[in-house]
Amino acid sequence: MSSQSGKLRKHPFSIGLSIVILVAAIVISSLAFLLINRRRGSDFSYTISGAVNLSSWDANQGMPVILEKGWEFYPNHILTPEKIHQSQEENATERYAYYRGVQISSDGWIDLGDTAELYSYGYSASDYKMNPYGVGTYRIELLLSQNVDFVTLNIPDIAQSATIWVNGKAVRHYGTVSEARNVYEPARVCADIQIEPTSEGKIEIVIVCANFSSPFGGILSSPCVASTSTIGTIEYSVRMYLTVLCAFWVFFLIGGSYISKTFISRSKFYFFLLMFAADIVYEIFAPSVNIMSGNWNTLIQISLLILANYWTFLFYYSLYPKGTSRLFDKLRYVELSLFSVITALYLVTFWCFPSVMYLHSSTVANLVLLLVTHLYCIFRVLYMGRHFEHGKNLYAGSVFLNTFIHLTILIRAQYFVYITLHAFLLLFLAISFTLYFVMDYVRTYEKLADNNKNLESAVEEKTRYIKRVNQDLMDNHIKLVENEEARKKMMSNVSHDLRTPITAIRGYIELMLNAKEPLSREQEVQYLNNMHTRSVQMEQLISDLVQLTRMESENDTLELMPISVKEMVQDLFQLYHAECEGTEKTITFDAPKDDDLIIEGDPKKLLRVFENIIVNAMKYTHDDGIINIVCHRYPDPAMLGGNAVEVLIRDNGVGIPANEVPYVFDRFYRAENSGINKTGSGLGLSIVKSVMDKHGGKIWVDSEEGRGSEFHIVFAASSVSFDEEEE
Ligand code: ADP
Repeated sequence: MSSQSGKLRKHPFSIGLSIVILVAAIVISSLAFLLINRRRGSDFSYTISGAVNLSSWDANQGMPVILEKGWEFYPNHILTPEKIHQSQEENATERYAYYRGVQISSDGWIDLGDTAELYSYGYSASDYKMNPYGVGTYRIELLLSQNVDFVTLNIPDIAQSATIWVNGKAVRHYGTVSEARNVYEPARVCADIQIEPTSEGKIEIVIVCANFSSPFGGILSSPCVASTSTIGTIEYSVRMYLTVLCAFWVFFLIGGSYISKTFISRSKFYFFLLMFAADIVYEIFAPSVNIMSGNWNTLIQISLLILANYWTFLFYYSLYPKGTSRLFDKLRYVELSLFSVITALYLVTFWCFPSVMYLHSSTVANLVLLLVTHLYCIFRVLYMGRHFEHGKNLYAGSVFLNTFIHLTILIRAQYFVYITLHAFLLLFLAISFTLYFVMDYVRTYEKLADNNKNLESAVEEKTRYIKRVNQDLMDNHIKLVENEEARKKMMSNVSHDLRTPITAIRGYIELMLNAKEPLSREQEVQYLNNMHTRSVQMEQLISDLVQLTRMESENDTLELMPISVKEMVQDLFQLYHAECEGTEKTITFDAPKDDDLIIEGDPKKLLRVFENIIVNAMKYTHDDGIINIVCHRYPDPAMLGGNAVEVLIRDNGVGIPANEVPYVFDRFYRAENSGINKTGSGLGLSIVKSVMDKHGGKIWVDSEEGRGSEFHIVFAASSVSFDEEEE
C-alpha cells in the first residue's frame, strides 16, 4: 500500500495481518470456550434446551426426579442419606408442593407452576420467588471398576450452604444448611473432594444443598465426579479461559494504545479499556472462583459492576466534544453530577450495609441502574450520531453490544450460558474496536502517504519550473552582457569613425583660416574636395547607422512582393557600367535570357544588398579591376528547399585574409588589408546579412587574399511567376 510513498516507513499493520491476528484470537478463544464447555457436558449434564420437565412429577409419591447420568434429585428436601433410604423404603417423605411444573435448567430449576395452586398451600408470593433455584438434595450411586482407587468430586459453585455426604458419612460442610428464611450466607466454591469407593467399588454421594432464604440458593454449576486427572483438566480449562481473556485484553491494551493515536482522543480509549477491565475483574471475582472469604467477594463483584456501569456512562459521555449538540451542552454537568451521585450512593450503601446485597430488591435495584444507564447511553449516542460523523456506526454498534453484555446479567441465573455469551460478546466488541482502530490507522496512513506523494510531485514540478526560470534568467543575463559589450564597442567605433572625418575637416578649415598668404584657387579646390570627401564619409556612416538600427528594430517589417532579381541587378549593372566608362575598370553582367529569376522580397532593401556588394567590389579592386556579376538558378537542388536563385558578384581585387573571412559580416569589422584610403564604416556587410536573414536567404564569401573575392547571394525562388503577378 505504501510502497510508492517514498520516504514514509511501511506501516506495521496491514489489513491481511490484522485479519490473521483476529482469526487466531477467535480460534484460540473458541478452543478455550470448548474446553470450558466440557464441564457442562460432564456427569451432571443438562442444558437449557435439554431441560427435564418436572411438571409430571408427582410430589406426593416421594420419588426423586431422575436427572441425567444417574443423579437423583429430591427437590426442596433437606435429606440425610438415612432419610433418603428410609423414604425410599417407606415411600412416605414430606414433600413441598410448590415444585409442581418445575423445569430443570443448567442452574437448577425454575418453578413454572401455577402460583394460585401454590398460594392454596399457604405459601406467599415471596416464598415462591425466593426459592426458584436448585435447593434440595442430590444423590448419585456409582459403581466403579475394581482398579479405581479413588475419584474426585468437584462442585464449582454452591450458593449459600451445603453438606456433602459420601457413602453415608458427612465429609464436607459449607454454610448453614437450614430451612430458616432469614439466614444469609455467601456463595461458596467447593474444593475438590477425594472419594474412595467401598470394597465393591460403590460410591454414594448425597449433596444436601439448601437455604431457602436467598434467591441464589443451591448448586449453581454442575458438579462433576471424575478421575482426578479429568478434574485437573476441567480446572485448567477454567483458568485457561480467564488467561486467554486477560491475554486478549493485554494485547488489545498494547495494540490499541499504539493505534489509539488515530482515535479522536486517547483518553476515551482508556475509558473504554477501564470499563472492560472492570468487567474482566468482575468475571474473575465471579462465583466460579472464590478469591476472598465471606462477603468480600460479592461486595467487590457488585462494586465492580456499579463502577463498570459508571465507566460506561463516562465513555459515551466523553466521545463527543462540547458543542456537538445544544441539548447535551446544557445537560453536560447535570448528567455528569447525576450519574456520579447515583453511583456513589449505590457504592456507599453496599459497603456500609453488605447484607443488603442478598436482598432480592437490591438485585432489582442493580438491574434498574444498568438498564437506565444503558438506555440513556443508547439515546445519547443515537442523538449525537446525527451531529457527529466520526465513528458514528462504531459508537452506535458498541453502545448496543455493551448494553447487551451488561444486561446478560438478567439471565445470570443460567450461569454457563451467561459466561460464554458474555465472553463472546466481549471478544466481539474488542475485535470490532481493534479492527476499527487498525482500519482507521491504515486509512490515516494511506492519506498521509498520498499527501506526501502529491507533495513530492508538486515539489518536483516546482523545482523543474524554478530551474527553467533560472536558466532563462541566466541566458537573458548573458545576452544582456553581450548586448552591453556590443553597445560599448559600437559607441566607441561610431565616435571614432565620426571623429576622424570631423578632425580632418577642422584641420582643413584651420589651414585655410590661418593661411598667412591668400591660398591659390587650386589649393582651395583641393582642400574643399578633401572636406567634401570627409563629409560624404560621415554621411555614409550616419546613413549606415540609421539603416542598421532600423533593420534591427522589430517594427521594420518587410514589404514583400515578387521581384525579378535579374532586372534589379541588371539596372544596377547599367548604372555602375556607366560609372566605369573612361576608367580601366571592367564590369560584366550575365543572366539567363528566358528566366526572370523571380523571388519574394522587399525591393528597397534588396537593392541596398546588391548595391552594397557591387560598391565593395568596385572599392576593393585595383584601377584595372574586373567585376563579374552573374544571376542564375542555383545549381545545387538541395539549396533552400530545392529551387534557389543566386546572384554571384566576383572581383579580382585585394581579397580577404583567410583568418578574417568569418568576421567580415560583423558590425564595424574591416579587414586589415581594406586600406586606409578606402572609406568605409564596416557596417555595410552586417546590414546586408541582416536583410538576407530577414528574407530567409543566404550569403557567404569565398575569398583569397591578393586574388579576389566571390560573394554568393542566394534566395528561395518564388512559386509565382512574375507575369502572373503583373496580370
Ligand atoms: P566597409 O565600409 O569597410 O566596406 P563593409 O561591411 O562593406 O564595410 O565590408 C567589411 C569589410 O569586408 C571591408 O572593410 C573589407 O575589408 C572587406 N571586404 C568587403 N568586400 C570586399 C571585397 N569585395 N574585396 C575585399 N574585401 C572586401
